[in-house]
Amino acid sequence: MSSILVFAESTDGKFKKTSREAVSYAAEMGGDVTAVAFGDIEQSELESLGNNGAGKVLHAGDDKLNQGVIQAYATALAQAVEQTGSEIVVMSKSSLGDAIAARLAAKIGAALAGNVVSLPDTSNGFVVKRSIYTNKAFVNVDMKEGKKIIAVKKNAVAIKEDGGSATVESFSPDLGDSDFAVKITKTEKAEGDILLPEADLVVSGGRGLKGPENWDMIEELAGELGAATGCSKPVSDMGWRPHHEHVGQTGVKVAPSLYIAIGISGAIQHLAGVNASKVLVAINKDPEAPFFKAADYGIVGDAFEVVPKLIDAVKAS
Ligand code: FAD
Repeated sequence: MSSILVFAESTDGKFKKTSREAVSYAAEMGGDVTAVAFGDIEQSELESLGNNGAGKVLHAGDDKLNQGVIQAYATALAQAVEQTGSEIVVMSKSSLGDAIAARLAAKIGAALAGNVVSLPDTSNGFVVKRSIYTNKAFVNVDMKEGKKIIAVKKNAVAIKEDGGSATVESFSPDLGDSDFAVKITKTEKAEGDILLPEADLVVSGGRGLKGPENWDMIEELAGELGAATGCSKPVSDMGWRPHHEHVGQTGVKVAPSLYIAIGISGAIQHLAGVNASKVLVAINKDPEAPFFKAADYGIVGDAFEVVPKLIDAVKAS
């Protein structure tokens, strides 16, 4: 296999876990892996992609590329594809990844497969497995010949760590005014240290918690675990919790390693946002609550008794 290009997404100068997954995926495919990174990122952070399998990092550190300028990223990536002669581009499935992948596919005339959960099977074509309907089904697609863009689903790949260090090369894409036609003028971060869509652990509460005054124990458990907090739709509708915490079909879709649902019934619209989680735990006082059918582990009990015991257990561990 020839050269593979990886778009390595970063926030505040740090590569996202999903970018390290994308680099690991490309390295597993074999061939020379070159990552492309944009904006203000320190040398040691750039080199660290070598630990995940990148041989080289092309770094476009121009200040103008700090701001999530999608069109500019797509143009720059198209130029990197040409410069490296790459036939395959790998990136992570994310809102930024989605926006860039479609533009890049149009620019370089590539086939695009999103939400990919398997390495390509090249025994008969170039077949990758995609997750669809929030992980309820999978579809195999043959990407056939020509250039290909693969957007890898979060948590689908184990991060490779082989102690390597990447060579960093400065990259100066040729960008014009039209690449900066849309500019982000202000970015407001949601409250909390851990962003819900990115979180590896989530503690989520529902109407069973009775009122906003009872969220201290949810926050304490989340704090002890290093988890983000989420909630069901009615909880955010009633203003008990901010809207950005609302998980489900009409809210944030999460894919953490562990999702703990406390006092949430398990309506299909809520499950649509969480069923890509690796392990689901439900805590509910009603043994007939639908969540127990979807959960890997269930605790039938009163949240006001169970959660303080969990907090003590986590503190003691
Ligand atoms: P309830 O259904 O009221 O469940 C509360 C649960 O808490 C019950 O199971 C109860 O047994 C348990 N409980 C009560 N007391 C305790 C206690 N002391 N200890 C332990 N357990 C206790 N919902 C979403 O969450 N996300 C969405 O994106 C979403 N989108 C929707 C879109 C549409 C078009 C529609 C129609 C609905 C949508 N909903 C969504 C709403 C969804 O159908 C449910 O109404 C909602 O998820 C229920 O929230 P809940 O589980 O917190 O509340």
